Amino acid sequence: MKRDQIVFDLIQEELQRQENGIELIASENFVSPQVLEAAGSILTNKYAEGLPFKRYYGGCEVVDQIEQLAIDRLKQLFGVAWANVQPHSGSQANAAVMLGVLKPGDKILGFDLSHGGHLTHGSPVNFSGQLYTPSFYGVDKETGLINFDKIREIAIKEQPKLIICGASSYSRDWDYETLRKIADEVGALLLADISHPSGMIATGLLNNPIPHCHIITSTTHKTLRGPRGGIIMMGEDFVNPMGYKNLKGEPKMMSAVLDGAVFPGTQGGPLEHIIAAKAIAFGEALTDEYKTYMKQVKTNANVLANAMVDLGYAVISGGTDNHLMLIDLRPKHPDLTGKLAENTLVLCDITINKNAVPFETRSPFVTSGIRLGTAAITTRGLTESEMPEIAQLIDEALTNPTNEVVIASVKARVHLLMKKFPLYPNL
Ligand code: PLP
Repeated sequence: MKRDQIVFDLIQEELQRQENGIELIASENFVSPQVLEAAGSILTNKYAEGLPFKRYYGGCEVVDQIEQLAIDRLKQLFGVAWANVQPHSGSQANAAVMLGVLKPGDKILGFDLSHGGHLTHGSPVNFSGQLYTPSFYGVDKETGLINFDKIREIAIKEQPKLIICGASSYSRDWDYETLRKIADEVGALLLADISHPSGMIATGLLNNPIPHCHIITSTTHKTLRGPRGGIIMMGEDFVNPMGYKNLKGEPKMMSAVLDGAVFPGTQGGPLEHIIAAKAIAFGEALTDEYKTYMKQVKTNANVLANAMVDLGYAVISGGTDNHLMLIDLRPKHPDLTGKLAENTLVLCDITINKNAVPFETRSPFVTSGIRLGTAAITTRGLTESEMPEIAQLIDEALTNPTNEVVIASVKARVHLLMKKFPLYPNL
């Protein structure tokens, strides 16, 4: 077969974009060459429905070992008793948990999307808001912080079956212990979706949800720096409270319910090439080098947030405990929307995303804020020394969005800076 040069040229173009630019999208990262290699490997050819050593297909002897390695490393990384590494994405992981523990129409309580939550936590445009009956908690207007007393009030009023904590754009830590007390008080299961800060949790830099939350889901491609994918974990296995029994009439363990909810519940064959890449990423995350990396991500986020505040921008909740921050543009530029900010920065090869701020007055396609994260640039080797310069470049562009000379100058300085931090020198 002829090499498809059209696609490979486009991949090369994307490589150049990633190499040249400052990547500040909080949900992105750059995987290691060995993670890339596994993700692009011949394992993509193999069907392996089922679980390691219990498959519905022949020839799984090798992929069984790979998947078991991924499970074992993940268990070690988070100190959990049970894990499933098959979800194709974070959304798939959440879909499987909800299929496993809820019936259609059951009540769920999640963090409001417009305050920083995720679509899969009950949004009306997502399966979670269409198949189940959602209610939401948010942040306080004055502080930008989650108010756990208010969550309790809503939980008592709504009596949800599942409480979901975790977020896509919340820069503060979570009080999982208090949430578990609330869940126990109303008889709900507690799900922590740690997609964003999972790498920081694994390295002990944030509160640990494992002892308090019944179930934990995550993506593997954000701070965890693995391939695009999802995982589900439990600190301890327990008898499912929904009353499900196995074929022998015995109560099912929750692990069996969740394994079944992934396959055959919501997925078919697992992506063994991606599972191999996950195994490598989990192995990398177990090293001291990764711990140092995570600490640097946190330092960089702090320094960047302070630099943005010094330049006149507001950081929602006043700062960050993790790798990301939500910037309110209005104090510095009342007329600059998140949309224009995103488009302006793209012209300078600085990649960010527009983001609604809590109590947003503009539409979700326009917004008054932007979200910045430091996981990707820290992988490239940038430290706190470079953060003030990055804030300066962002500010210069956002202060002069229609000035082509300024935009060209910022772009040239972005390229100059990133040339010092090669990404994939051997690709
Ligand atoms: N959960 C949270 C908190 C997220 O931030 C995201 C992704 O942004 C997801 C779930 C979904 O992950 P995916 O895009 O892999 O489906």
